Amino acid sequence: MKPGVVALVGAGPGDPGLITVRGRELLQRADVIVYDRLAHPFLLSYARPEAEKVYVGKASAHHAMRQEEINQLLVERALKGLQVVRLKGGDPLVFGRGGEEAQACREAGVFFEIVPGVTSAIAAPAYAGIAVTHRDAASSFVVITGHERDDASAAGARTAGRAEGRRNWATLAHAADTLVFLMGVEALPEITARLQEHGRSPDTPVALVQWGTWPRQRTVTGTLATIQNEMKRAGITPPAVCVVGEVVKLREELRWFDTPAQRPLLGKRIAVTRAREQASSFAAALQELGAETLLFPVIRIEPIEQNQQLREALLLLPQTAWVVFTSVNAVEPVARQLHSLGWDARAFHNVRIAAIGPATAEAVLKGLGLRADFMPDEAVAEAMAAQWPEEDLRGKHVLLPRAAEARDVLPDALKAKGAMVNVVNAYRTVNEEEASAEFMAALQQGSIDAITFTASSTVHNFVRSVAGADTARLASLLQNIVLAAIGPVTAAALQQYGLQPAVVAPVHTIPGLLEALLQHYAPSASA
Ligand code: SAH
Repeated sequence: MKPGVVALVGAGPGDPGLITVRGRELLQRADVIVYDRLAHPFLLSYARPEAEKVYVGKASAHHAMRQEEINQLLVERALKGLQVVRLKGGDPLVFGRGGEEAQACREAGVFFEIVPGVTSAIAAPAYAGIAVTHRDAASSFVVITGHERDDASAAGARTAGRAEGRRNWATLAHAADTLVFLMGVEALPEITARLQEHGRSPDTPVALVQWGTWPRQRTVTGTLATIQNEMKRAGITPPAVCVVGEVVKLREELRWFDTPAQRPLLGKRIAVTRAREQASSFAAALQELGAETLLFPVIRIEPIEQNQQLREALLLLPQTAWVVFTSVNAVEPVARQLHSLGWDARAFHNVRIAAIGPATAEAVLKGLGLRADFMPDEAVAEAMAAQWPEEDLRGKHVLLPRAAEARDVLPDALKAKGAMVNVVNAYRTVNEEEASAEFMAALQQGSIDAITFTASSTVHNFVRSVAGADTARLASLLQNIVLAAIGPVTAAALQQYGLQPAVVAPVHTIPGLLEALLQHYAPSASA
């Protein structure tokens, strides 16, 4: 048996882009992922669908899994030979009790690995436009725990450690030019009082950065004398980083993340309903524009094992005139079958290739090494049918590898031109059963601004899993939400349920949908 390993992986401070390459790699192959509140949920979408995901960071101390239980869980899974990722906010060894988890592994004779992460102590200030050191303002910084009983980590019921008694404010107050406090929200009155007591000027600039690097990031600034009031006024609660020192003033010049000009979708929560396999790149693009994304993977792409039908279809390639790709999802199954026949791209030397849109054309080029001969102006079956470059297909074989459940517009149109169309199921789209609890909660709270749909199948599956046949409930749930469709077919699917899409992308591609959303929210910002 391959021995199990526990990897203590830093998830970074929030922004999913801030995980390390190594961290993502381990997530992608983990058998078990143990995570808490400060690790961005998006990171879980890197997991294999069959990976076990264990949440150990309930906000309430009552439900928090105790540290000993977490240690036990990690060790137990690893001893079964599983690859365990312990995903921790920020850096696993900065106030994250990662050290204790590694010790528990060592005691149990379990291998472990430590993957450092981007700590909130530096990243949250950075996203607020505050450099913890600066040639003109600070040549040192320290990171200090404020020691509130923070609910943010798995250790909701933490008891103060031995280090607490050693706190020496006289030393701390002058330990560095910049002081960064984690877990400092509840202790803020004490922190500000003690620092002044020990000689830090009441005018020393202070910033609090809440949910740093998350789309919901908020920053308040003040001085040692005023910050407490500012915090109350703004209603800042954990998790927040408190920065004390002259560097706070840099924010006036270096602010970048929370500026609508640079990030026009700032503050918008946008749900993405694509198949899990395809959602991440779209979500990443939305995030770059400032949006917070919620993944709602209503469908999942599954291969068809032992696909005899596809195999036989490929054996006929020498007699085939056209192969038509109507989705990127068909590319991989075709490539796999081709290779299992011991063939390669040369098998297509007499075949012309049609691709429904640019993303599919790119996938065909990447996956099969074939350039598309034909692509319609609009990425829909109707356009493909109407603009087909060959009028007379009599006696010609056309292969259409596609989802087991797709519309007949295209095969019918090609048959009408005389073609012998071989429609082959290349993959299956499977409904993801339950709408994730997180998503349903957000929907009910009305905290979702927009939902994007990239295919009519996602509309049907979305409706079914959110409201079943209850159209009144559906309408009330989606009442104030902007529905965005990739094109007219997807829009029509929404209308079928009495839903009116506020956004229909004029260009039926993911970049087109992105552009249409920008147009909707920030017409002046889009090109
Ligand atoms: N290991 C983590 C820190 C865990 S202690 C790291 O390296 O970042 C939890 C504290 O970290 C919170 O109370 C808060 O002070 C801080 N924190 C974590 N993520 C944060 C974020 N995104 N924004 C602001 N503070 C954060």
